Amino acid sequence: MPKFAIDLKSGSIKNENPIIIGIDLGTTHSLVAIMENGKAQVVKDEFGENALLASLLHLSEDNVFSVGEKARVHIEEDPQNTIYSVKRLMGKSYDDLLAYKDFYGYELLDTGPENLVKIKLRDKSFTPIELSAEILKSLKFRVEKLLDNIVSKAVITVPAYFNDAQRQATRDAGKLAGLEVLRIINEPTAASLAYGIGLDKSVVQTVAVYDLGGGTFDISVLQIQDGVFEVLSTHGDTFLGGDDMDKLIARHWCDQKGFPPTFIPSLRKLAEKAKKHLSDHDLFQETDTRFGELSLTRSRFESLIKPLIDRTLLACKKVLSDANLDINSIDQVIMVGGSTRVPLVKKEVSAFFQKSVFDQLNPDEVVALGAAIQADILAGNQEDLLLLDITPLSLGIETVGGLMDTIIPRNSKVPTKVGRNYTTSVDGQTKLMVSVFQGERDLVAYNRKLGEFVLSGIPPMPAGIPKIEIQFLLDADGILKVKASELRSGVETSVIIQAQYGISEEEMALLLIDSIKNASSDLAARALQESKNEAANVLHHLDKFILQNAGLFDINEVNKMKDLGELLRSTTKGDDKSAIDQAMHELNSFTRPLAEVALDHAVASALVGNKPI
Ligand code: ADP
Ligand code: MG
Repeated sequence: MPKFAIDLKSGSIKNENPIIIGIDLGTTHSLVAIMENGKAQVVKDEFGENALLASLLHLSEDNVFSVGEKARVHIEEDPQNTIYSVKRLMGKSYDDLLAYKDFYGYELLDTGPENLVKIKLRDKSFTPIELSAEILKSLKFRVEKLLDNIVSKAVITVPAYFNDAQRQATRDAGKLAGLEVLRIINEPTAASLAYGIGLDKSVVQTVAVYDLGGGTFDISVLQIQDGVFEVLSTHGDTFLGGDDMDKLIARHWCDQKGFPPTFIPSLRKLAEKAKKHLSDHDLFQETDTRFGELSLTRSRFESLIKPLIDRTLLACKKVLSDANLDINSIDQVIMVGGSTRVPLVKKEVSAFFQKSVFDQLNPDEVVALGAAIQADILAGNQEDLLLLDITPLSLGIETVGGLMDTIIPRNSKVPTKVGRNYTTSVDGQTKLMVSVFQGERDLVAYNRKLGEFVLSGIPPMPAGIPKIEIQFLLDADGILKVKASELRSGVETSVIIQAQYGISEEEMALLLIDSIKNASSDLAARALQESKNEAANVLHHLDKFILQNAGLFDINEVNKMKDLGELLRSTTKGDDKSAIDQAMHELNSFTRPLAEVALDHAVASALVGNKPI
């Protein structure tokens, strides 16, 4: 069914275009791309000139935002009301930003350690989400003008290192701009897609994505397999990029011409021009009205920026060692970010990885192009192709004794559906509490509880007889649906749980480290608890067995069984696993020949059957 929307400005009725746009919301530049005739294309500004929209905002005296190059003129003349690098503020508190406070020419408001930072502009305050939304609106509008249609769905990219708060803030900015954000994807994933890497599901590849932008540098290593893009490791420097090259050139000119360092800011625009020129020429020369003749050779420029490139290569080394990989295991190297246009950067990166790099596409467009491809896949236009993410932490339920029973292990592909059978632990049990946890520890107490619900209406049956199926359905956005049903009677209940959000990547890393550190003590605790559970199960059936079959045996045999049972019961009060196991063994050895005679099939199967919850 087609959707319609009313354009409030013109009053006209428009079709809502089903297109999903791909957006690269960058620190220095942002872009939007769409699919045209099966090919991803960036969308240029209204003059058909620039695809790059400077990530700059200015708030005028009459409270109107201008976005992009139009805002640039105000950086020097009205710095307090001109916003750059708002991406750096996304999902951050004032305290998070304190160390870099001087970097910003505008005023950050101390909103306390628990709250997201705000920015003061004129007599108002804005969240970074609202400001990013202005950039997104401007890109959305660009596409709407081109298509003469309303667009309302988007895929937005973020750096691989963005934590949950930063991703959520990006999503919120999209929402505020009137976009339904179907997916947040990692920039290196998008860049790989733009080069068609990962589209052939049968190939397994390890890819390094080197992204040198205006103010930031990231290197990520991805493992791509079966449509799953897994970030093996990521490194970088959030204050290293093309801006630093400009500063080095400006400083060089100051030294050369005897200008004071206070000239550096005003020389930066010319410095950037020189840098870009030197990407395809050997010499830059210009006579400026203020500064006189300025020149720079490519080789001088290269010696200025060599230390900066070396710093990026150091991060490349680290990213490999973190992922336990050597250079030979990298199949492809992808160049992303405007600063990789510098020939020396390409040369050094290629030499470091000992292979030629992917640089055929515009490095400042690849991320947006990849986002458009992902959008197209989500729109269902590329058949047989479903790109998947993976779950960062295991999901499971609590079983008797507080044990974590993992149903979907960490690093599973999503969407996924897994069902597992359980049973009851008490005779006549008609209700069952299902508690859902996320984490890697063996005991649920150390994991994160996501929710719980009750399956009720189970017809009374002896313990171990009900067949309870718990099904976990995890969709591509990390939404978990849990369904519990008793298969003999058909009663069922389900709940929806938001699994991934609300947990930051730092928190996640801590949980993982914790699980490794505690693996051995957890294992011991789990083993003890399992012995206790087994003993409780054995004792439960022993009591029943004696009750039902006492007549079959002589009184000494019955008493001996009871004594061994009591011994076992007393060991389960303590924490000595071997004592419990020993008592269980003695009881089992004594009762086995007797049980063989009498044990009816139902009890036997219950003894070896499903785990009780
Ligand atoms: P971000 O992802 O951080 O928003 P971009 O990928 O758009 O940044 O990169 C912007 C940087 O690329 C700027 O520092 C700009 O000067 C630099 N850049 C753009 N074109 C060239 C070029 N031809 N040669 C060298 N550097 C360039
Ligand atoms: Mg970028």
